[in-house]
Amino acid sequence: MRIGTIFGIDIVVSLSWLFIFAFVAWALATVGPFQAMNLTPLARIGLGVLTALCFFASVLIHELAHSLVARRRGIPIKRITLFMFGGVSNLEGEPSTAPVEAWIAFVGPLTSIVLGFVFLLISIAVRPTNALGLAAQYLAWANVLLGVFNLLPAFPLDGGRVLHALVWRVTKSRYRATQIAATIGKVVAWLFVAYGGFVALSDPKSAFSGLWLVFIGWFLLQAGGAERMHAELEHALAGLTAKDIAEPPPQALSADATADAALQLMMKTGHRAFPVMLGEQLLGILSMSDFAKLGDRAPAQAYVTSLMTRTDDLKRVSPSTDANEVLRLLSSTGLGQIPVMDDAGSLVGFVTRENVLRRLPLRRELERVAPKHAA
Ligand SMILES: [Zn+2]
Repeated sequence: MRIGTIFGIDIVVSLSWLFIFAFVAWALATVGPFQAMNLTPLARIGLGVLTALCFFASVLIHELAHSLVARRRGIPIKRITLFMFGGVSNLEGEPSTAPVEAWIAFVGPLTSIVLGFVFLLISIAVRPTNALGLAAQYLAWANVLLGVFNLLPAFPLDGGRVLHALVWRVTKSRYRATQIAATIGKVVAWLFVAYGGFVALSDPKSAFSGLWLVFIGWFLLQAGGAERMHAELEHALAGLTAKDIAEPPPQALSADATADAALQLMMKTGHRAFPVMLGEQLLGILSMSDFAKLGDRAPAQAYVTSLMTRTDDLKRVSPSTDANEVLRLLSSTGLGQIPVMDDAGSLVGFVTRENVLRRLPLRRELERVAPKHAA
């Protein structure tokens, strides 16, 4: 759900975020710091919502700090997503050097800690004994905690990225850095799980906070694993081009074929995309997702030319496109395959998700058999 745009960056909140927001506001209003004060229930709820809003604005400012620094270093950014565990800045590229990566990652926690001190000064200025002062004091703590927590050296926390940049700088290998940082991150995540489990089991009263820590640890394990997988894939594709990983196009459909015939061909051959040809000329490509355009027409009554994506509208790459660029395109567009076309406009083949994933075990195997040849 998009709630607005700041500096040309879309701000998106997930459903889990709304849930957590309501929970924080409720907790602040009922069991939080205002409990001891002599306030009407309405005032307490108002204070709870206001404080929760300020806290989530703080999370947003933390993410904006990452995003703006990334953009200044030439990495485009379209979206910030707020969800259960905080926020994510969706960078549309990778930092080119270790210092750039370190700075983009570090500026977030730094911003949170600075915000913490700002709220502390506010709370001192309005005196912590009154309700607004108390709210500012709570926000000061929350921001400092957010900053410190994010500095933990576990992917995908900012600290994990700072660590990655440091190892990258020392080893001069980005891939090696990912392996080392991911391993350390795994240890930190398991410490969360173990400590959370211990807290939950040893004292029934703190079972909830214990389980919460286990949950955070589990989340870090999942996210760290995905990050590592992505790095391995990038490494496996390094130095390859679209032509290297493409598979040759399957038998073409003729322009007068019906959707019904195309469906049968898909089922028979297992291919998900077919070129549509008129003689020697490529008109377009018919892929599985194009069948959504059928509407309420019967497949036997619709021609493939009315469903296909025309050559001019195709997202495509040239044979010499970097394989990692194709991978980025596959994940950013959500497409199942990308056609590879040469300058003359003829179809060289398709790169599918399966083509890409197949490279992964191959590279691993090669490095075990002949480690010297695989860089
Ligand atoms: Zn951050």
